[in-house]
Amino acid sequence: MEYYSSQINRLVEELSRLPGIGSKSAQRLAFHILNMPKENANSLACAITEARNNVRYCKECCTLTDDELCPVCKNSKRDHRTIMAVENTRDLAAYEKTGKYEGVYHVLHGAISPMLGIGPADIRLKELMVRLQNEVDELIIATNSSLEGEATAMYISKLVKPTGIRVTRIASGVPVGGDLEYIDEVTLLRALEGRREL
Ligand code: ZN
Repeated sequence: MEYYSSQINRLVEELSRLPGIGSKSAQRLAFHILNMPKENANSLACAITEARNNVRYCKECCTLTDDELCPVCKNSKRDHRTIMAVENTRDLAAYEKTGKYEGVYHVLHGAISPMLGIGPADIRLKELMVRLQNEVDELIIATNSSLEGEATAMYISKLVKPTGIRVTRIASGVPVGGDLEYIDEVTLLRALEGRREL
């Protein structure tokens, strides 16, 4: 890309590091940004910088938020004795969109995968176990139905069952290997309602 100036090259390079963006798309996006009104381009740059600088993990459920506690954990109307463990913040958002789940969440930030060398210590499991020392009636495991999601569910279930807390797993109306975030709300609710004891 010798024919672009170095600053254009840099923008293209940065954009092409994003997932799903090849070099052609990166060039298209770069020229789109360069043709934007200056204030829009600045606003995009600020949104990235501010979000990246201020977003942190919720002290309670480990989801990404910009406050000490996320809006769900802060809400006293939620049922804090029911915890749903999900793999990531996007899965939490998928269940929140249904508007029907009244409990709180725990975001694991991944799933156990011996193949990828991701062990129990690499996800937010320790934080979950600490939370379960409070008064909790039920832990709903809503990891994906992929191999890793199932392995994680089994692992957590074995760990938690001796504490006497009710452990359930969402129904597998969710297609195997399916990411929760791509599944429609009706299917998500059905999976939640059809959860079974582990
Ligand atoms: Zn939270």
